[in-house]
Amino acid sequence: MKWLKEQAEKRPNQVFLNELTFKAIYNQTKQMAEHLSEIVALESRVALLSENSVEMAIVLFALLGLNKEILLLNTHLTEHELSEQLDELEINCVFTSDDLVGKVAGSINFSKIKDTPSKEAELEQSFSDDKIAVIMNTSATTGKFKSVPITWGMISSHVKASQLTIGLQEKDNWLVVLPMFHVSGLSIIMRSLYNGTATTILSKFDENEILQLIDEHKINMMSLVPTMLNRMIDKMSKGNLRMILLGGEFIPQPLISKSQKLGLPVYKTYGMTESFSQSVTFNILEFPEKISSVGRSLPDVQIEIRHRDKTGAGEIWLQSPMLMKAYLGKAPYGEAFDTGDIGYLDTDGFLYVLNRRKDIIISGGENIYPKEIEDLVYLLPEIRECAVVPRIDTTWGQVPVLFVVGDSSEEKLLHFMANKLAKYKLPHEIHFMDSLPKNASGKILRKDLKV
Ligand code: ATP
Ligand code: MG
Repeated sequence: MKWLKEQAEKRPNQVFLNELTFKAIYNQTKQMAEHLSEIVALESRVALLSENSVEMAIVLFALLGLNKEILLLNTHLTEHELSEQLDELEINCVFTSDDLVGKVAGSINFSKIKDTPSKEAELEQSFSDDKIAVIMNTSATTGKFKSVPITWGMISSHVKASQLTIGLQEKDNWLVVLPMFHVSGLSIIMRSLYNGTATTILSKFDENEILQLIDEHKINMMSLVPTMLNRMIDKMSKGNLRMILLGGEFIPQPLISKSQKLGLPVYKTYGMTESFSQSVTFNILEFPEKISSVGRSLPDVQIEIRHRDKTGAGEIWLQSPMLMKAYLGKAPYGEAFDTGDIGYLDTDGFLYVLNRRKDIIISGGENIYPKEIEDLVYLLPEIRECAVVPRIDTTWGQVPVLFVVGDSSEEKLLHFMANKLAKYKLPHEIHFMDSLPKNASGKILRKDLKV
């Protein structure tokens, strides 16, 4: 916890988490570690289950300072899924926020930690690059989750590369509404810790609360997933905002166009749990001609497109010190990491993500990118959500099927698509839904769309 100690010494009165200063957070972390030290004395790996809060950050910092590896559990998981994850990683010691204590048998809630007698404890200051800090599970969008060990080396190369790209400034205040148990939320805390800047942590998404924080100039940076921005954009103006980092999944084009019109400083970003968040980013206002790309790679990130087809698109492989070397307990992947995504690079080095490889539909030998059809359907303002998935077909092998949320009709949709898409790409069925199934990150779960 060298960064925390340094910031507490260098800028003790600078606000760090909500109203609390670096000095206050450092002191509270030290106290928390003193309460925790006896409880975790025999543990090398523990787990933490909490919605976003300052207290969660303090418990996390204290456990990191006590040299533990911390599995960050997703609060949306069921009791059964939680115990499955804990068994798999052989973890017996679980800390929860007070409201979630019932979700894991035998867990210790934050109030109980504070009731435990203190014991002298020192916060470990320096960690080797390959030491695991936290373990995070991928979003399980495509199948079972994978456990990613996030090392101090990954965190430190991320915060440095990100700083060169984004350039946090002394007065910035970054909203943390994305979960801290995912890289999207935790990486904000780590960037602010490294740069000595403020964050505002919210436990849940409430658009009115966020709009007010923007209006009152309490925050000027935020990380959002597209559905969140979509829910607020009609009431937004640039105001004091310096950056809206937007990513985690495909970003519908109309949302980007709307942001451009409003002059919102949206930075598209592409990354994954395995790379401790963003690997690629750009500002849509700076490069309006590149808005369908996800941007250029951060310093020290190399992108390679392998097994290209005739159009130049192929598998996106990454190399970078921000990437994990292996999934937990699995063999290292070698020199480059296969993202599982398909895309291409243009001559200016901008990356375009076409689809997840697993979602590509092959119909009569032709590749269909569901995203191409979805992007088109999203142009209709009455469509709120959509997803294209394959259906087995005896003639074509697979055919596309469209699921939509919105006030429309099959006839209208087919008519709209008919002269814009090649015939083999036209959906063979259209289903209207109230909402589409999503995981904890808000990503649409195609595997749960049954045809
Ligand atoms: P799992 O690996 O368990 O199936 P997941 O891949 O959804 O889950 P994450 O690590 O949270 O888990 O997400 C990373 C993936 O999200 C990327 O590989 C990519 O497919 C997608 N993604 C992230 N940002 C973008 C973006 N800007 N545009 C398109 N896709 C994106
Ligand atoms: Mg993945």
